[in-house]
Amino acid sequence: MPITHHSLWRANANSNLISSPLSSDLHSELVIIGAGYSGLCAALHAAEQGMRVHVLEANTVGHGGSGRNVGLVNAGLWTPPDEVETALGQVAGITLNHALAAAPELVFSLIEKHQIECEALRHGTLHCASNNAGLRQLKQRLAQQVKRHAPVTLLGASDTFQRTGSCQFLGALLDPRAGTLQPLNYALGLAHAAARAGAVIHTQSPVITHQRKGNHWLVNTAHGSVTADKLIHATNAYDTLLPRSTAFTSVDYVQFATQPLTLQQRASVLPNGEGCWDTNQVMSSFRMDQSGRLIIGGVGSLDGKGKGTHINWAHRKLRALFPQITQYKFEYMWHGHIAMTTNHLPKITQLGTNGIRLYGYSGRGIGPGTLFGKAAAQWAFSGNEDHLPVAITNPKPETYTHLKATFFDMGATLSHWLSCRL
Ligand SMILES: Cc1cc2nc3c(=O)[nH]c(=O)nc-3n(C[C@H](O)[C@H](O)[C@H](O)COP(=O)(O)OP(=O)(O)OC[C@H]3O[C@@H](n4cnc5c(N)ncnc54)[C@H](O)[C@@H]3O)c2cc1C
Repeated sequence: MPITHHSLWRANANSNLISSPLSSDLHSELVIIGAGYSGLCAALHAAEQGMRVHVLEANTVGHGGSGRNVGLVNAGLWTPPDEVETALGQVAGITLNHALAAAPELVFSLIEKHQIECEALRHGTLHCASNNAGLRQLKQRLAQQVKRHAPVTLLGASDTFQRTGSCQFLGALLDPRAGTLQPLNYALGLAHAAARAGAVIHTQSPVITHQRKGNHWLVNTAHGSVTADKLIHATNAYDTLLPRSTAFTSVDYVQFATQPLTLQQRASVLPNGEGCWDTNQVMSSFRMDQSGRLIIGGVGSLDGKGKGTHINWAHRKLRALFPQITQYKFEYMWHGHIAMTTNHLPKITQLGTNGIRLYGYSGRGIGPGTLFGKAAAQWAFSGNEDHLPVAITNPKPETYTHLKATFFDMGATLSHWLSCRL
């Protein structure tokens, strides 16, 4: 099979939700824009509280990052916990760190509760040190985690080799709270659970405008509208409604999946199934799926001029990591957009009375998106902001986001061009 510009996750997706575009004018208690983890978790939990909920999705469930990501369910953000507390202040920082540390538990318990078939595996993740600087960075992260009583351990080079099957690393931080899943099937499972709880999901229904009208929100699509008491805007990097350039920098991430490896190959590559990423400045990731495909990812896009560079890099990267895999081919490749904020922290901003926007997970949205969605549902139900993992703030435009996006894209292309050549 030749390599196709398609997502592996889409190719082996479970049954889609039966849903139709919005075609009338409706009244609701809560309207949610976007059917990714944030919107779907908000819908599920609000519907479970008995609220009348409508979700409007421009494309299909999981069209955004939720259907395209690596599938690493992490406890925490890229930003180490000490830096989170420095950025937000101690009280708010501790609140967010604490909530995010528990996010994998929330994800895996939802999967169990709603019997979501999404290849969920809670065997931990490995943050792998590519060089001495990376190892020093991991030791600092370890110290911060140990201070917070997190069950994280630093593996030496030999243990890292045993677990990954690659001799490229000097060590790795093992986080047993974390795990992996099939991201799109997790989103589809949440959608089915939300629908069973009573939420109504309209796909193929791009929202064109939302505005306050009297005491309500009026949300318009081309063929209908929803009037609602509360609004949750959960479109993250895929937003088509608000000016993207002012909220975050869009960074692309590309992935390549091999054919299912042979049993012999599989025995020597991630035999325990941990999800991995490395300490390189231009980060890359690798993991297995349930059928034994090896999935390699890195910063980059398949849309621009760098496509060939990224494909060649992925081959070199795979051969450098796992020289024992001599026979393989990539069968799938796809990319997605990440909403990166300047301090890499997620945000909840005020859109107007009773309206909030959740975004900016900065490449860490499975746990955080699930958590923020659930918390937003509690906010919608109770009107109480204390449930939210971060305070609601007024939107604050970020600067030079287009320039930064170009810089990330060019930097990743250059780095991939140079990488793994020796
Ligand atoms: C390639 C890649 C790899 C990643 N890897 C990881 C990882 O391993 N671990 C991790 O934790 N996170 C990862 N992330 C981040 C994570 O996927 C996202 O943070 C998360 O999916 C965001 O979920 P969300 O629901 O907020 O937004 P999304 O899943 O992006 O959903 C937003 C939805 O809003 C819809 N929408 C947009 N505009 C409108 C409109 N006008 N009207 C109606 N609907 C609209 C879109 O169609 C989309 O379906 C990765 C992201 C990418 C792209």
